[in-house]
Amino acid sequence: MAKGRILSGNRPTGKLHLGNFAGALANWVKLQEDYECLFMVADWHALTTGYDDTSELKEYTREMLIDWISAGLDPEKSVIFRQSDVKEHAELHLLLSMITPLGWLERCPTYKEQLQQLSGKEITNYGFLGYPVLMASDILVYKADTVPVGEDQLPHLELAREIARRFNYLYTPTFPEPQAKLSQVPLLPGVDGRKMSKSYGNTIALSDPPERVRELVNAMVTDPERIRKSDPGHPDVCTVYAYYKGLAPEVLESRREECEGGQIGCVACKRQLLKTLLDILGPIHERRHELAVQPGLVESILEQGAAKASPMAARTMAEVREAMRI
Ligand code: SF4
Repeated sequence: MAKGRILSGNRPTGKLHLGNFAGALANWVKLQEDYECLFMVADWHALTTGYDDTSELKEYTREMLIDWISAGLDPEKSVIFRQSDVKEHAELHLLLSMITPLGWLERCPTYKEQLQQLSGKEITNYGFLGYPVLMASDILVYKADTVPVGEDQLPHLELAREIARRFNYLYTPTFPEPQAKLSQVPLLPGVDGRKMSKSYGNTIALSDPPERVRELVNAMVTDPERIRKSDPGHPDVCTVYAYYKGLAPEVLESRREECEGGQIGCVACKRQLLKTLLDILGPIHERRHELAVQPGLVESILEQGAAKASPMAARTMAEVREAMRI
């Protein structure tokens, strides 16, 4: 029996990389066995910072969805849909924006942080400030009670809870207060040791062929103090070790002992990591090739997802309108 209802999603960013896989996707694949899951391509969210160039939105949606399915998200087990296909998200966003004090949004730590980080971009917009209200609407429109999040997203979820509480207090108790399901996965760095980011060109894409993966693993930054195999290594400063941490925790202890004891060279250590990565990516590549020869598959998954998500959202909106006497 399902433990509860989960809503999670991602902005369409095109092809996914191992950081996306380790940080969320691998976890989602497991969650769909125990929870009733809804996974959303958050294309409206992409507009909050990327409103000025929408040329690749559809292609990014397509690529991300193929990676989701290749990695094991199953449209038969989970509702996989695109946010803009279910207009109730926008209606609830509008109504919840009426009851959300401006101060709650301005105080949101991610708002200030992003304003600084994206300082070259004009994002002092209404849509960007109100993005946590849209996020609350995404969750509440399905009455999801569980949301898998990283620590950095906790303030958004707290805001969603506050908005739900305020609605329930002002009108009729309608929404459950969604709870966080914290993801324990450490962040994977890029192959050069910096933050993993497509804009740095330091990612390993789920669709990268084995030869490319080999090149990227060979280029990984290791412990700079280690010259010979017998030198005791420091795995905590090594990018290769960070990948073991995120993707192969079962060998973590033995790898640390071998590295610190000078029993394994970095070349051999990388060779073993490459094997681990190819074991993970092999089945994903196989499914990707199968999907590539099925034209219209992505569209049909999205249609099927919208057909399941829409009635759920419509039921909630009927209750919301009644509670607000609209
Ligand atoms: S042996 Fe492995 S963990 Fe240790 S520094 Fe070399 S690559 Fe990193």
